[in-house]
Order: sequence, then structure tokens, then C-alpha cells
Amino acid sequence: MRANPRPRKSRISPPLLGRNFSAFEALIDNALMPLSLRELILSCAQGASADGTRLRPVLQNAADQGQSLIDAALDSGLVDEDIFFAALAQRCGLELTTQVEPLEGLHNRFAPKLALRHRLYPLALSAKEATLATYNPFDLLGRQALGQELGKRIHWKLATRHQLLQWLHDGYGVGAENFDELLEGREAQADDELRQETTVLDEADEEATVMNFVNQIFRGGLKERATDIHVEPLERDLRIRYRIDGKLIEVPVPPNMRLLQQSLISRLKIMAHLDIAERRLPQDGRINLELDGEPIDVRVATIPSVNGESVALRLLTRKKFDMAALGLDADTEAKFRRLIAAPNGIILITGPTGSGKSTTLYTLLKELNTKERRIVTIEDPVENKLDGIIQIAVKPEIELTFAAGLRSILRGDPNVIMVGEMRDQETVEIAIRGALTGHLVLSTLHTNDAVGGISRLLDMGIEPFMVSSSVRAFQAQRLVRTLCPHCKEEAAVQPAQWQALNCDPIPGRFYRPVGCRHCRGTGFSGRLAIMEICLMTPALSERVNARATAAELKAQALADGMVPMRRYGLLKAAEGITTIDEVLTVTAANEG
Ligand SMILES: [Zn+2]
Repeated sequence: MRANPRPRKSRISPPLLGRNFSAFEALIDNALMPLSLRELILSCAQGASADGTRLRPVLQNAADQGQSLIDAALDSGLVDEDIFFAALAQRCGLELTTQVEPLEGLHNRFAPKLALRHRLYPLALSAKEATLATYNPFDLLGRQALGQELGKRIHWKLATRHQLLQWLHDGYGVGAENFDELLEGREAQADDELRQETTVLDEADEEATVMNFVNQIFRGGLKERATDIHVEPLERDLRIRYRIDGKLIEVPVPPNMRLLQQSLISRLKIMAHLDIAERRLPQDGRINLELDGEPIDVRVATIPSVNGESVALRLLTRKKFDMAALGLDADTEAKFRRLIAAPNGIILITGPTGSGKSTTLYTLLKELNTKERRIVTIEDPVENKLDGIIQIAVKPEIELTFAAGLRSILRGDPNVIMVGEMRDQETVEIAIRGALTGHLVLSTLHTNDAVGGISRLLDMGIEPFMVSSSVRAFQAQRLVRTLCPHCKEEAAVQPAQWQALNCDPIPGRFYRPVGCRHCRGTGFSGRLAIMEICLMTPALSERVNARATAAELKAQALADGMVPMRRYGLLKAAEGITTIDEVLTVTAANEG
């Protein structure tokens, strides 16, 4: 965030000290104060600059430029923020507020323009009085203007800069401080502009602001571990939402954000190398971004809507795809390792869209990715690029389908093949041929549970013996949300609950979600795959060949040691990682 206050427009009236006079204001009005502020800052220098050698020139420079000493000192990182504000509070005789959450809705009764311009936040408001938090009590001109505009008696409290900026962000929206000035005076022309949908990128000022805003949206999304960012024009507003742990969360945006909607969307389209003039047809593109040293691929899709184009951004951070990150139990990990150690056969990962299949698939590929193995994939689209692996994207427009791609891959001497999805009989038949001729094939299927994969292949018209002789395992998975470690609370499971679950009590420590500032009050943070693995044992092969019913196949798989997904999830709940409710919700479809 930019920290230095901008030069203000000169609408400042004669001093209002008569009305809002206080001992504190007299103190800061003292001409000596800037000097003593500098001493105060230097006394809070930390680390290598403890004697002030590095800090002194920073402060001098800020003073020469007419910038805020407090912002300069905090931006330099040479001052401990908490120590400084404690000292400042004492010096000014102001209370340092320890309030963590501002009162709900208070900011709605306080003009964003005032809060953002003067960097303050309302802590209490009544008809005649206002209690406001500031981190810079030396902004005398600002407070005079404020006193006049507000027409209330003002009580001041001090807040740390970090805290104050957080409140402004939560109350008035991401990047709000950038927009404040830009949007001033645009209200009147706004509607015409929106109707004409003109691209307003010509003002350098505006472009810089919008770029800054775009970066803040991405940075915020990454910080919150968002998988997607949606920029959606509504009739009278612009909405920005993050998808975090599978759920959409609305991001606070500055008021009047819609006035910059066209610039924002054009900016995103330019970054994705899309045609910005084309607004009636959907477009797809990609942004390669580096933010704070981390490379991120962003898949961009624009969708024209009646209110204007909406943009969906999928954030593909370069994940490490570490086996440990899957959080597998020892038995499941051992099964996976045995499966991928085989030189041939098919391993199928199943589950609906959004069940984390790709992550599991990529993790297995990463494990297989050694110098001795040639690995080729055909995907729709390539979601994550992996070093040392040849990845091909399907392109139906040039007849590069899964089947066609797979056929040519097989001619290219691979050891391991990954096929994004088995959608049709032809693809499955080529994959089976590949598996039977010495290749290890990994792929995905849409089914409800692991055993369901067998029926799915048979329904596609594959001969039972082809399935039983080529597939080594069907795995199925779902994602459950994991409990926020900062706020979860132990909660015993009552015998009646186990009875209702039709399950013997599982020993362990169970927790319930609570909600805190680390998890946006949801009680959950992150997700974990729960899964089941159905191995093609000799006994199961016989059943498949005999065209046994789904129930018979499942009974056989269980007899051969398959741990059902729900059981797997309940064991994770017993470790305090997730909740029983989460497990029941995501496994409801397959335990009917
Ligand atoms: Zn929490």
C-alpha cells in the first residue's frame, strides 16, 4: 500500500482550534514537535539501525521531501511498529486503541472520502461526537478540515498503522486509497460513460491506479489462498469475489468501483493478450505474473453478460505437489507407492469436478518424474507445468483430441502417460492397449466412488476382461475443509451420534469449528482430500469378468481391504484435522 499522503486540494478553512481545541492539539501545534518526533522515532530504531545510522538519512530524506516521517520510518522497516506506537501514545497522551474489530457497520455512517483521505477510522459516532482512530496525530491540517466537514466534537485515539490500514481495507475496500482522488468528480459523467462502454485507459494516472489495483487484487487473492478471482459487473455495482476453500467470498471494494470497471476489465484483457475491442464473445487467455518473487500462471476467461463483461481468473500457483502435502495415512501412501512402482497398468483417479483429482494426479507424476522415465501427458488444458515432463494440450479445432493425442504419444516411446480424462470408449481402448504393451497410464474418470469406476468403463462398452487385466486400481476422492488450528475447540462425540452414523466409536480427539481472524470467521482453513482405493485383486478380477453387480463388486473390494472414503474421513476427524459433519457432507452421495 502506498503510505505517503498525497498533497491535498486546498479546501482547508481557517483553523478550527476554537471548536476542537485540546491539550493534545496544542502539543502537536508546537513548532518544536517535528524535531521531537524524529527523536522519538530514532529511540525506537531496531536491529542494525539501533543507533540510528541507517534511520537518520531516511528521516532526513522524508523531511526534505515534505513526506510523513512516521510513514517513512515504518516503510523502512527499521522501526518496530508496536514499540513506536506505544511510545507515541505516551508522548501525545493519546490512548492506543487495542480494539481489534471496529464496530460493525460504523464505516457506513462515515464518508469514505474523509476516512481514506485522512487515514482515520471511526470507533464511535453519535450526533454530536465522534471517536476516531488515527496513526498520524501530526496531520493538523487534515484534522482541521475534518472537524469542519464533520461538525462534531472529535475524540482521538491512536492505532498502529497496520491496524488502521487493515480497518480501511476491510471497511472501504481493497485499494480504496488509490481510487479516492481519481473518482472524485466522476460521479456525474459516470452513467453516460458506462452506457457507452468506452475504454478509458488514456489517462496515465488512471492506468497506474488500475494497475496498482489489479496487483492488489492478485496479492490479496494469493494471501487468502484463493483458487479463483471473479470480477463481475452487476447492474449498479462491480463485484469482486475470491473462491477460497471452494467457497466464494466477496472482497470489499471501494465505493464507486464500477466507474472504473471498464478500465479494470480492459487492463486484465491486455495482460492476458486478449482483444480488448471484442466485448460480445467470450475469450480465453493466460497471464504470467510474478508477484513478490513468486511466479503465478493465471488462466483468464471473459464472459459477456448483460451488465458488461465478467472476468474469471484461475490462479495456478506453482505448487510443489509433494506427497506429504496430500496428508495421506501410512497405509494409503504405501498403496500409492506400490501402484506407481509398477511398470505398466492403469491407475484411475475418480471424483466429480473440484474434488482435487488434478492435485493427486500431478503429485503422482512428480513422484514418477526421474531421469529414467519419459513422461508424456495430454491434458485439457495443461493446468500446471511440470519440469521434465512433456505436456500436450488437446486442441479439438485441429483434431488433437485425447484419443488422437494418446495414439501419437504411444508412438513416441513413453514410459508413463497421463491422460487428463477418459471421456469416451476410443480413448479408454487406446489407453488399455498402451497399458497392456508396457506403459503406466494415469487418468481420471467421473464417478461417485472407486468401485463405480468399473461400471463406468463397462458402460462405455469396454469388455470386462480388458478392464480387469489392465486397470490396477480405482481411487476416489473428495475434498473436506480442514479446521483452523487457531480457533478449533475440542468437542466430544456422543454415543448417540455414533449410533446415528451406524458406526463403532472411533477413538481420538474431535474438534468443532469456531471462527477467528485467521480464518475469516469460518473456523476452517485449507482443504484435504479424503479417499478410498479399490485395488484390482485376483478375486475382484474374477467378479468383474463374471459381470457381478455393483453391490457384489463393492463387497469384494471391502473384503480385499478397501477402506471406504467415509471411514478414511472419520479417521481424519479423529485426528482433529476436520469435522465429522464435513466428512458426512462430502460423502453423502456415495453412502446411500
Ligand atoms: Zn480460525
